[in-house]
Amino acid sequence: MNGKHILNEMAPYKQGKQMEEVKAEFGLTKIVKLASNENPFGFSDKLNKELPHMLGQLELYPDGHATELRKKLAATLAVYEDQLVFGSGSDELIQIICRTFLYPGVNTVMATPTFPQYKHHSLVEGADVKEVPTVNGYHDLAKMLEAINEQTRIVWLCSPNNPTGSLIPKNDFYMFMDRCPRDVLVILDEAYYEYVDPELKYNAIDGINEYPNLFVLRTFSKAYGLAGLRVGYGIGNESLTAKLNIVRGPFNTSSLAQKAATLAVRDQEFIRETAEKNRIIKKEFQQFLDEQGLSYDDSQTNFLLVKLPVSGNELFDYLLTRGFIVRPGEAIGCPNAARITIGNQQDMKELQAILKEFL
Ligand code: PMP
Repeated sequence: MNGKHILNEMAPYKQGKQMEEVKAEFGLTKIVKLASNENPFGFSDKLNKELPHMLGQLELYPDGHATELRKKLAATLAVYEDQLVFGSGSDELIQIICRTFLYPGVNTVMATPTFPQYKHHSLVEGADVKEVPTVNGYHDLAKMLEAINEQTRIVWLCSPNNPTGSLIPKNDFYMFMDRCPRDVLVILDEAYYEYVDPELKYNAIDGINEYPNLFVLRTFSKAYGLAGLRVGYGIGNESLTAKLNIVRGPFNTSSLAQKAATLAVRDQEFIRETAEKNRIIKKEFQQFLDEQGLSYDDSQTNFLLVKLPVSGNELFDYLLTRGFIVRPGEAIGCPNAARITIGNQQDMKELQAILKEFL
């Protein structure tokens, strides 16, 4: 059967080993997963109380408009309800954006390394991909502006960037928006927004009225700790969200996910605590890496891209036998590095002891 030709050159997402699989393979009782930047502190306690009540009406389709979650988020973010679009994770929104705006003959500009799904879905739609290397982990915004041409439809900014962790500084972001042609859509992926240090944080959502070509992506998968439920959201002007809603499936977020996300938004104290604990444990881990003479990129996230004297795969294989799963750099375009999620204090202490043995 003939599909799109490009699919002959592509592969599906290759997920890392599952925790049960690793336990069985190495006869371990405990596994610590530090590979996907999930929240080691779980999710808001308030959900534990409410979750059992949410199972009441699973036979019914969800509210495709996500009305309750929409109202809560719109009020929290001070945007209009029609300026929000929800997805089954921001992953699905990336796919919807590509399906809406890309087709053969046009191109899209992004950093490298960055979150691989931008490239993946751009290619699936038959668009060309222009990748601009990061400098010390930071987006090279001047070069990205230079890469834009008549055929460019989307520029992807990932801030903080996965896998490097770097934040696009506020002034640089607004300078970029001022110089970027208004007919080029700018996707600002802020999956790790909640982790950014308060003194560096800026609210790009405020810019959606001034810049009708700006679309901001956020997720409940990281600091909110709800990766398993698959819910993310995007914020942009109404003509943009109207187009995305044409492509979006009618029931793309589950009733459970909508309800849990609504409750999670109410508990901002959990988010503050998560970010604070992450900051402290990350600093301790950075001090350890400094002592070991290992360098890492500046990170405003819950992970560090650690540079290694060996290949990332070698460290990955070793840590696996000791019950720790990290992301080898080779899998994400960063050879001789590993992306390590900041776990809880106890697990990070154990990891440090194991790393010392390895180095
Ligand atoms: N964007 C970035 C930068 C990410 O790191 C991730 C998750 N790894 C996503 C988007 C997708 O997250 P989700 O689909 O769980 O919302």
